[in-house]
Amino acid sequence: MPRARYLFPLLALVGCQATSHTVPDSRPIDAAPGVSVTSRVVGLARSGAPLIAHRFDNPASSTVVLVFAAIHGDEPSTDDLALALIDELSTSRPMDLPDVVVVPVVNPDGLKAATRTNSAGVDLNRNLPATNWRLSPQGRNWTGPSPLSEPESLALATLVDELAPARILSIHSIRRGRHGVNFDGPAGDLASLMASHNGYPVLETMGYPTPGSFGSWAGIDRQIPTITLELPRDQAGPDAWRDNRTAIFAFLRGR
Ligand SMILES: [Zn+2]
Repeated sequence: MPRARYLFPLLALVGCQATSHTVPDSRPIDAAPGVSVTSRVVGLARSGAPLIAHRFDNPASSTVVLVFAAIHGDEPSTDDLALALIDELSTSRPMDLPDVVVVPVVNPDGLKAATRTNSAGVDLNRNLPATNWRLSPQGRNWTGPSPLSEPESLALATLVDELAPARILSIHSIRRGRHGVNFDGPAGDLASLMASHNGYPVLETMGYPTPGSFGSWAGIDRQIPTITLELPRDQAGPDAWRDNRTAIFAFLRGR
């Protein structure tokens, strides 16, 4: 039906203008010869949009590290940073890196709608089954009705269980002046290492409670070194990548 053919591009265009941001897709990555990358859907958002993990393998390494972004949909530069990392790893892969898994968008519905929460109004970064999880009132930090009530956080937690990563980088953005390298679990040295590259302050705490956060669950409860990189939110993705590129590679190497 011609009507349907017209309607779909129109909706796509409207979506594009409303968010002007990347909608994730599962196309295979166009990688350079010698680069081993596999992309797979690790879960679906409430809308059915895929959560995609790209794995860059190093056959000589038995270590895997995890990087993810855009768990908050109103932090679009974080996705830009993850995509810039994917681009660079696809082009030429330094052999001194461990296996690297990148999930550029954990909250595709929120990213599309430019909302912090997912489409059910849940702050996915308060929906992890951390020991400090407590039901909160609905609002921008709503925990959801129960830990892992949301398919996006369930997919993320399942991926962590499956990978058992040696360290994890979670990319966020925040008002300039509050930005920095935050850490949970045994990651103080790693945070200092990254700060020596990007010049950001090391933040032992964000200064507010974060029950059910990813850092509480993975870093504090599970003792996986977990970095929460908080970019200045007013900075464009390419500029944030320029400022953080060497810090992120130091994270990947762990030194
Ligand atoms: Zn955030």
